[in-house]
Amino acid sequence: MNSTIKNRIPRYNTLIRYAKMLRFGEIHTKIDPTTGLHAIIAIHNTKLGPAIGGCRFYSYKAAELALKDVLRLSYGMTLKAAACGLPHGGAKAVILKPHGDFDRTALFRSFGDFVNELNGRYITAVDVGSTVEDMTTIFERTPFVIGAKGPGRVDEDPSPSTAKGVFRAIQAAIKFRWNRDDCNGIRVAIQGVGHVGYTLAKLLSAQGAKVTISDINQDNVQKCVKECGVSSVLPHEIENVECDIFSPCAMGGTVTLDLINRTHAKIIAGAANNQLAHHQNPHAMLARDIIYLPDFLINAGGLINAAMTYTYQDLSMVDKKVDHIYDVVLTMLERAKASGKTPAAVAEEMAFEKLM
Ligand code: NAD
Repeated sequence: MNSTIKNRIPRYNTLIRYAKMLRFGEIHTKIDPTTGLHAIIAIHNTKLGPAIGGCRFYSYKAAELALKDVLRLSYGMTLKAAACGLPHGGAKAVILKPHGDFDRTALFRSFGDFVNELNGRYITAVDVGSTVEDMTTIFERTPFVIGAKGPGRVDEDPSPSTAKGVFRAIQAAIKFRWNRDDCNGIRVAIQGVGHVGYTLAKLLSAQGAKVTISDINQDNVQKCVKECGVSSVLPHEIENVECDIFSPCAMGGTVTLDLINRTHAKIIAGAANNQLAHHQNPHAMLARDIIYLPDFLINAGGLINAAMTYTYQDLSMVDKKVDHIYDVVLTMLERAKASGKTPAAVAEEMAFEKLM
């Protein structure tokens, strides 16, 4: 997308219309002149339980852009939580990074007070720009936070759960497409082998898939090649690799129309958030007979991990819930085939059915 359009400042009224269209919910703002805090918490839906979603700490050019971001992101969290059967609604917070000097600890304490004032309807967590240390600061003021360090708190990296969820989703798509229960010889191209892509490469390779990877970080490439038995190509070559499955696990927006028209893949399934360059792309994939597994559904393993850890302080339930992504994906693909709709549309439908 053209960056000028993407960064155009929307009008406040337009954003409120957008919020109504997405059926919000609550939008809370807090301004604390003492610490410089300017934060927005958008709670999209609490029908299934307390709303959960990360806290983004970012330098926005305008408050309207922050509002747009928080609305879009919290709506996605409702879909994700509902789709994977979590007893949670969707929410998100953004803190507009102050210009100039500020006291980070004081700022996040103040944000902790803000979260606490919502009495548990919103549970916060790490997102772009915020850290485990920030969550620990928030925990000084409220219990409604995931990922804080402290006595009796389970501390777990969610990425392996995310990778496992993507792996189970890919297994379901293989079953649906080729009626196979194994990955032997199936060629998978993975774009990005950071926290999630690395583990995904390892899981697939261990099951006999022929995995090709790419990353802009050479250390990550070397580590993955050495430890996972995969081959690598340069970042710009990954889209042209002869493969059965393309797995975007780097940044958003990489599933472009150009990629869809060129790829050899019959399945596109990866962890990257907001991987579609255009919202119409699922139709282009359907037209080319490519199965597309929507990111919000198949990368939910990290959220499952976080939610289970928070609610039950027990990681033994995480694997079972993540495994369930296999069944959800199979059901979604069968419904999509029967209805002629895109898997992305059916996944949204399935999530909203849980909210009725
Ligand atoms: P990460 O930062 O650990 O890994 C991303 C990798 O992509 C890095 O190694 C980076 O060098 C590489 N990369 C960036 N641009 C690239 C390009 N153009 N070509 C090839 N490689 C490129 O992130 P992660 O935690 O592995 O997450 C991967 C994606 O999955 C992100 O979009 C993230 O938002 C999403 N996601 C992650 C989780 C999780 O639990 N970590 C959960 C849900 C969604």
